[in-house]
Amino acid sequence: MNVYDSERMADALMPSGYMPTDAVEDADMVILNTCHIREKAAEKVYSDLGRLRGLKKRASEEQNRDMLIAVAGCVAQAEGAEITRRAPWVDMVVGPQTYHRLPELVAKIDPEARTRLVDTEFPAEVKFDFLPEEQAPRGPAAFLSVQEGCDKFCSFCVVPYTRGAEFSRPAQQIIAEAKRLAASGSKEITLLGQNVNAWHGEAEDGKSWGLGRLIREMADIEGIERLRYTTSHPLDMDDDLMTAHRDVPALMPYLHLPVQAGSDRILAAMNRRHTADDYLKIIDRLRELVPHIALSGDFIVGFPGETDRDFADTIKLVDTVKYASAYSFKYSARPGTPASSDDAQIDEQVKSERLSALQQLLDAQQLAFNRNCADTKMVVLMEKQAGRDGQLSGRSPFMQSVYVDAPIDEIGKMKQVIITDTRQNSLSGEFV
Ligand code: SAH
Ligand code: SF4
Repeated sequence: MNVYDSERMADALMPSGYMPTDAVEDADMVILNTCHIREKAAEKVYSDLGRLRGLKKRASEEQNRDMLIAVAGCVAQAEGAEITRRAPWVDMVVGPQTYHRLPELVAKIDPEARTRLVDTEFPAEVKFDFLPEEQAPRGPAAFLSVQEGCDKFCSFCVVPYTRGAEFSRPAQQIIAEAKRLAASGSKEITLLGQNVNAWHGEAEDGKSWGLGRLIREMADIEGIERLRYTTSHPLDMDDDLMTAHRDVPALMPYLHLPVQAGSDRILAAMNRRHTADDYLKIIDRLRELVPHIALSGDFIVGFPGETDRDFADTIKLVDTVKYASAYSFKYSARPGTPASSDDAQIDEQVKSERLSALQQLLDAQQLAFNRNCADTKMVVLMEKQAGRDGQLSGRSPFMQSVYVDAPIDEIGKMKQVIITDTRQNSLSGEFV
């Protein structure tokens, strides 16, 4: 979602004359769009700000030019005052729900007076109603935020505090944005939300829609060939959404469905409000509907109070599901969340050991899934130039990165590819 938000920040600023640049030292304004989900992500902000301080100083001393520095995103939301205290060279701080105001903030900055602006309120107005339309094409595969924030309050998670309350964009607004993306050449759209499958809306027909219905509607938009959505919560995985995987050819056979842990005791302590068995039932149903669906998940190891036995339950669940890919993290205590004040914090060493055991298993499953694709044909949406000259990369239906030697004018096309090589994190192939 930060990628999407960054694109929208550029949209917001382009009418004031700003253009995106890859050369940070040339920039008149640098926005760090930040993540607060784990401590590691948040810490990175301060080291990046240290580097930007030098660039700002050089722009001023050597070129007599002011470089504005802004911090946006969830670290900005959570630590606005702290940022301006620790990094007084930051000119403005803007939260995830106020970045549509960036042009106003820029206009208010007076470099002589060294004003610092902090706008991290949760405003009554909705940013989507104020952002200008996309100012640049998004490429073959685009993101589209449909839902934001969260009311679930898992005991480890900062999202409800940084992104705010659960909010669904109106269906008509989403469809209009999707049509514009398709018209500008995007063929794949990934619908985004912190709890994307909690999306609900009143449609023009007066009926209440869920995400399954929205996806069915979006699949009819001319030019949209592929749809994905992320991230889902097991509690909101309703049957209409699951059957959409069977009924809607454009909906890709891939689902990222985090479970976090395999122990019911830990799931309860996390306030996930479902059991391991509830999760496995959803997986069974999905596989009944789409036998070849690729599954991905998120896992946290070392949640407060997690015993060896609890961790063994996570391993057991992973063994049962067999993931095509997954993300796993050491529990990170986040300020203000209930779990962070739990006395039973787990030793870092134990967390590291559990993480590496889990990742070993998940890596083996991913490799097995990828190996299984050898010599098969699949449709790949060619997205961009890869690292090596003459090579392009794209995504398989199952979200794997696929590398093909091909000329640059194949970017944006859906191509039949035969898979000739499989690796831990990617595949290679040739056009059929
Ligand atoms: N809404 C999604 C997840 C959003 S956060 C869900 O409920 O599943 C993305 C991922 O970050 C989570 O799935 C979780 O695995 C990880 N995460 C969140 N808070 C964390 C914390 N305090 N420590 C470690 N990992 C965390
Ligand atoms: Fe965080 Fe997801 Fe739980 Fe919401 S449902 S609190 S975003 S982990």
